[in-house]
Amino acid sequence: MISLVIPVHNEAPVLPLLLDRIGSASRAWNDEYEIIFIDDGSTDASLSILLSASDRDPRIHIVKLSRNFGHQPAITAGIQQASGDVVVILDADLQDPPEEITRLLEKWREGYQVVYGVRTGREESLPKRTAYSIFYRILHWISDFDIPLDSGDFCLMDRKVVDALNVLLPERVRFVRGLRAYVGFKQTGLIYKRGARAAGTPSYTFKSLLKLAIDGLFGFSMVPLRLASYLGFFIAIPSFLVGLYFIIIRIFNVSVFGHRAAETPGLAALAVGLFFLSGLILIILGIIGEYLGRIYIEVKRRPPYVVDFVHSTGTRKAQSALQMERV
Ligand code: UDP
Ligand code: MG
Repeated sequence: MISLVIPVHNEAPVLPLLLDRIGSASRAWNDEYEIIFIDDGSTDASLSILLSASDRDPRIHIVKLSRNFGHQPAITAGIQQASGDVVVILDADLQDPPEEITRLLEKWREGYQVVYGVRTGREESLPKRTAYSIFYRILHWISDFDIPLDSGDFCLMDRKVVDALNVLLPERVRFVRGLRAYVGFKQTGLIYKRGARAAGTPSYTFKSLLKLAIDGLFGFSMVPLRLASYLGFFIAIPSFLVGLYFIIIRIFNVSVFGHRAAETPGLAALAVGLFFLSGLILIILGIIGEYLGRIYIEVKRRPPYVVDFVHSTGTRKAQSALQMERV
């Protein structure tokens, strides 16, 4: 059985089209499937469209979150509710074509446990494309393990991988594509063309994209935290050497390049001292930050999302209580 996990935030214009496209694409699968829509606090007609679709089709299940928690928490809610042997995550706006699921499934049958979509030819504005490209490259460069370039959330995951994500990774900040890379297993990429959204407007604003990027960079690397220490050494060591130079020319009263200590006003010594001390403070701040960052993340034990209700006319029962325990 295949579970499709689809986060939805104000996607009313595109939902009928999406259901149509999934319906026709599913003929190629020959497998049973369920669709888990996560309504992430939509304020338009999305929820009512989904509820009536679910009333007509017992394979469609709705998880309504209590407010807008964001794309990543919505995906997390979805994969925690999914009961399939494989779980496919895709966006509601048809940027991830449902027809590609057939190819994901082929790879899974070949034995891959994670098949992630690698985007080529994004139909997006140049600044957005450039920003994405730079972000993925920095992330790839500074993360402690291999996060594949240009791979978003569109992917297929085997039950084993989903269980690992749900049970073994209790962290609160869910950067799903990073966690997916972290858990390992047999992974492969599949190149696909990420189209423009079929209708409606993107929910991601510049601010939420920036937050996603920061979650990715800070959640999967200690490099930013160490930056303060590196910077400290960078400033402190040259300052120390310059200070040493001033001391030497004063003690030995030598002239270097015609420059005598007696001619050096006290200002220079002051400036050197200031930079040296600032450098030291940054080093120490960096060390404290290293610990603080780890403690901060562990201590805030808030759930990534809260479920309002699970709606389904099929036989499956709500798993939310069970999931709450797991998280
Ligand atoms: N989405 C969500 N919650 C949000 C923002 C987005 O569930 O707070 C969903 C949205 O409905 C879509 C997917 O996440 O299915 C991707 O969002 P969007 O198309 O706005 O992002 P982009 O394609 O620009 O990355
Ligand atoms: Mg989109």
